[in-house]
Amino acid sequence: MNSKKVEPEKLRREVYQALENIVGPEWISEDRAIVEGYSRGTYIAGEILPKHMKDKTVLPACIVLPGTTEEVQAIVRVCNRREVPVVPYTNGQLGSLATIPGTLCMHFVRMDRIDIDEENMTATLQPYVSYNQLQADAMKKGLWNGGCPLATGITKLASQYSVAGIWQTDLKYATLNRNILSVKMVLSNGDMLVTGSAGQAGSEDFWEYSPGPDIMGFTRSSLGTTGIVVEITVKLHPWVGGPSFPEDIGRPSIDTYYEDVEEKKFDRPQVPERHRICWLEFPDFQSELEALYKISHSGIGIGLNASGCYNDYYCSQTREMTNNRAEDGFFPPWNCYVMLAGISSEKQLEYEEKVLRQIAEETRAKFLSEEYKPDVLDALAPWNQDCFRHVTGMRMCRGGWASLIIPMGRISIAKKHREIWCKALAQIGETHITDRGGCDSTPFVYVVNRGHFQYSETDNYPQTHSEPEGLMKSMAFLNYFTAASVKEKYTPGAIVGMSVEPYHSFFPEIGPNSNLLFRKIRKVFDPKGIFSPGKVVYTEEELEAVPDMVRDSMIEFRKMVGFES
Ligand SMILES: Cc1cc2nc3c(=O)[nH]c(=O)nc-3n(C[C@H](O)[C@H](O)[C@H](O)COP(=O)(O)OP(=O)(O)OC[C@H]3O[C@@H](n4cnc5c(N)ncnc54)[C@H](O)[C@@H]3O)c2cc1C
Repeated sequence: MNSKKVEPEKLRREVYQALENIVGPEWISEDRAIVEGYSRGTYIAGEILPKHMKDKTVLPACIVLPGTTEEVQAIVRVCNRREVPVVPYTNGQLGSLATIPGTLCMHFVRMDRIDIDEENMTATLQPYVSYNQLQADAMKKGLWNGGCPLATGITKLASQYSVAGIWQTDLKYATLNRNILSVKMVLSNGDMLVTGSAGQAGSEDFWEYSPGPDIMGFTRSSLGTTGIVVEITVKLHPWVGGPSFPEDIGRPSIDTYYEDVEEKKFDRPQVPERHRICWLEFPDFQSELEALYKISHSGIGIGLNASGCYNDYYCSQTREMTNNRAEDGFFPPWNCYVMLAGISSEKQLEYEEKVLRQIAEETRAKFLSEEYKPDVLDALAPWNQDCFRHVTGMRMCRGGWASLIIPMGRISIAKKHREIWCKALAQIGETHITDRGGCDSTPFVYVVNRGHFQYSETDNYPQTHSEPEGLMKSMAFLNYFTAASVKEKYTPGAIVGMSVEPYHSFFPEIGPNSNLLFRKIRKVFDPKGIFSPGKVVYTEEELEAVPDMVRDSMIEFRKMVGFES
């Protein structure tokens, strides 16, 4: 056992005092028990392993909870003057760990105001507003924001601006990125940046662009390294599903949790009014992809995704059930589900289902129904309404999620994803049987924007986060997949992968040399490098200081996929 004693680095007293003066003593802490709580990521192996290795880098010096935009600005000014690194943090799922000792962690838990403008169909949100809060408020007014990631309750729109924003209903609504009107950000010197038409003096918030270069394009997906989002305004759309859902009926409840597990009765929310979900099974991957093209181009539906082995853990009530279903291939390996919405009328639903049935016939697909595999259809009941939920997120029975790969591209490129994932399995071996999903079955495919492109996903699930071996193997998957994708000139990765370090600098073939461009952009937005240093792109000095272990590992994976050095 590693008995090394770890001590967090503290801020200089005068800096701490200046920060305390801004927020008040109640809203700042350097208590060891508190800072520890902010020092471990939720699911990425690379953000859990540092705890196993007793790496003190991830322990922030203090946690500050600002209550207003002005406080955020004042904190950033102090940090910029004193060169204290800052990491923004909402729920700490991904990318929100400190990168160097002595970091201030800014947690937005006090900033959760929502303002809905019904007439202009927009919502302005502070950084701690989650998708389910937004949906609960908007749906009462017959509006919604168009989608949600899988983790409804814990994911915030401001942090998604910094990371990804993939929704199950991307077919129609096309990701969070396409639904933002403007963002207010605190820059590294404490100044305020407002993007879009709202940024022009005297203009209103109606368009995501304004004359000149697209500033939003420079700042989104930058993991909080270009500025701190204090307000985000998103588009709203008509919602016909009713003001609330009976989702607590039959949901796992704390009072009856164990009985619910015994009776396997939870997680069966009803489909919202004027919505329908259809499941299709295909004889092979090729016909699945053909159908994804046809359905997305036909203009019907709001969501079109393939979920393959993901159904095993979304729809099983125990881990044993998940594993048995994965072993037995209980769910169709080549599938898709289509979410239909009768936005204009009930008849819209009927018409769209007719179109879908015709496409099914043309692509040799079968509808799951009372007549065909009713047991499978019944088992799927828990799944695929997360994008509508506004009370709780769904429950999943799976091991410890530890890495994810999410490349993008045309729909047909999902084939390439599967090919590389199969190679990774052959090279590295599985961490658990569910890792085979994406090779033995379809990768998770999210069709975006009427089929203009797709995100596909495969993941690793070692059974526990408490043993480093499984986490290391998951890291190896991520490294291998990234290296192989670069080598084979495959598409850019979303969330984790090619646009973060150490990949950005150790694979200069990306772009090519996009690391050099991003280094310059970082310098413009953050000359002193205080915002999450080294997360998206290293400065030359940071690159020099990369630990040998990381450098050697990158070189090893480069060689493994055929790069000469
Ligand atoms: C079970 C599960 C399923 C998921 N499914 C999906 C999915 O379907 N689609 C999808 O897109 N994602 C998905 N995710 C990923 C997750 O939704 C994102 O990582 C999300 O942004 C994390 O939210 P958070 O509030 O915990 O952010 P954090 O982890 O706290 O922050 C994320 C990043 O944003 C930065 N940040 C935080 N707040 C701000 C701010 N105010 N200004 C600037 N930067 C900021 C942080 O520094 C960090 O880099 C899933 C996660 C889980 C656990």
